[in-house]
Amino acid sequence: MKTQQFIEIEEQYGAHNYHPLDVVIEQAEGAWVYDVDGNKFLDCLSAYSAVNQGHVHPRILNAMLEQAKKVTLTSRAFRNDQLPLFYKELSEFSGYEMSLPMNSGAEAVETAIKLARKWAYRVKGVPRHQAEIITVEGNFHGRTTTIISFSTEPLYRDDFGPFTPGFVTVPYGDAEAFEKAITPNTAAISIEPIQGEAGVVIPPKGYLKKVAEICKKHNVLLIVDEIQTGLCRTGRKFAFQHEEGVRPDMVIIGKALSGGFYPISAVLADADLMGLFQPGEHGSTFGGNPLAAAIGRAAIGVLRDEKLDERANELGNYFIEQLSEVPSKHVKEVRGRGLLIGVELHPAAGGARRFCEALKARGILAKETHDHVIRFAPPLVIDKETIDWALPKIREVLQMD
Ligand SMILES: *Cc1c(COP(=O)(O)O)cnc(C)c1O
Repeated sequence: MKTQQFIEIEEQYGAHNYHPLDVVIEQAEGAWVYDVDGNKFLDCLSAYSAVNQGHVHPRILNAMLEQAKKVTLTSRAFRNDQLPLFYKELSEFSGYEMSLPMNSGAEAVETAIKLARKWAYRVKGVPRHQAEIITVEGNFHGRTTTIISFSTEPLYRDDFGPFTPGFVTVPYGDAEAFEKAITPNTAAISIEPIQGEAGVVIPPKGYLKKVAEICKKHNVLLIVDEIQTGLCRTGRKFAFQHEEGVRPDMVIIGKALSGGFYPISAVLADADLMGLFQPGEHGSTFGGNPLAAAIGRAAIGVLRDEKLDERANELGNYFIEQLSEVPSKHVKEVRGRGLLIGVELHPAAGGARRFCEALKARGILAKETHDHVIRFAPPLVIDKETIDWALPKIREVLQMD
């Protein structure tokens, strides 16, 4: 079957909740993907940063296959021999004492919300069911009904109320607005260190540090969503590490925690906070299963042993510098950290979508985010030669009429 036939079947039988580029991928390796018509493309999205380790990384593949032959699911009613080691290795990698594994990113966000609320009632002394969590404009934390309750994107929420109460929204990048919004009932603030889905929005320097200080001063938990920015993507293990002295109370990770093989997410926290969960209060049938744990161990091992944080930092600096030098009437700004890069176009450019289509015609897959931004976020195993292969093509596209 060819591309068009697959697309027709998909459109007829599948819900239309996405608007994908018309490329049907059947195979991938490292930074490259191959479609059913025999074309080869450079992947500049990395499944929204889930394949930081590169497609079908052999070490993770092997861990998955070996574990799948032994035992895949025990449920948490019984213990398994992979989960303890996953916990330990994740702790050594992250510097947090404990973790709680879930599957999708959204589930981990829900977990963090529940833990913050529990802390508010049991530790801070907020009257029961009065806890507030502060969120910021332009946030993206997933798609559950509670999470879209604090989204500020009409497309994500308008037809899906009634909404979960207990959330307050302040502008992103404005630490003073955050401090003013704090009440005695405030449990936490939830923040992405860089807003990926909002268009690779980077807050002013010092913002996160200021927010962290305000949290300490008012006894409010700092929750950082690193599902997209974490696990080496921005040139550090976690994007919050770009600011000195910031240590969030909870860090949420997902996506690259499996290197793209399997949905695995987790909340990281120290024992005094994570210890608040008692047996039966929270759970997931698949969360922490031995297959996921084995994959997660290998995925973290790759990030660590291949030093993908350093690699993202070096190659990201080079890529950003080169993109910044492209003369183009369409480009308003090039910004990024590590290999999470956004090229924002002027509104007059007519939207980023047509540029993404033109990149696809030249063998590069990138996706527009928020209409006017092209996101470049290739797998971190990409090399300089490949970036140099892509640059003239990107230049050509940015110089279209
Ligand atoms: C992708 C993403 C999520 C949601 O993860 P899912 O696995 O799609 O549920 C949450 N927060 C951020 C910042 C993300 O990029």
